[in-house]
Amino acid sequence: MTSASITPLRKKPVGRKPEPVEPRFWSNIEKRPDGCWEWVGCKQSSGYGVMRVNNKPTRVHRVSYAIHNGPVPDGAMIDHACRNKACVNPDHLRLCTYAENRANAAVSSRNTSGFKGIAKGRNNKWRASIWLSGVFVNLGQYRTKEEAYLAYCYKAKDFYGEFTCLEPLP
Ligand SMILES: [Zn+2]
Repeated sequence: MTSASITPLRKKPVGRKPEPVEPRFWSNIEKRPDGCWEWVGCKQSSGYGVMRVNNKPTRVHRVSYAIHNGPVPDGAMIDHACRNKACVNPDHLRLCTYAENRANAAVSSRNTSGFKGIAKGRNNKWRASIWLSGVFVNLGQYRTKEEAYLAYCYKAKDFYGEFTCLEPLP
């Protein structure tokens, strides 16, 4: 960034060679005792680390994945197994589909049951439902939210395997 000599403004072309990615990547990481590699550079308001790659703001966990595993396949998402959005430890990152990523997302703040996929129906029963590959599947109604959540978990586990039920069971 800094230059010892003062160069006339117009001399450098706008599309000058971008700075190499890896040194900037490695100099902004703090390895934490819990195993996460915390990104200490720029962060988006969403909590993801971000850096410029080829002049485009790019999420750093994707950069980390690419550095360690090669290019991210088209359309693929990268999921944080540790759920720390600012983490760039390649051991905590895994490729997943959009649906799998949804399955691993935390319970939304609008959810009133406290369990993912569970909502109170009009008849005072608890409705369980799940998104499977972009399709909304109704899993029935239950007397208690715990029962409904069990139904959700069985279905999710069946469909997504390791990508689900990270919330503790009641
Ligand atoms: Zn992590």
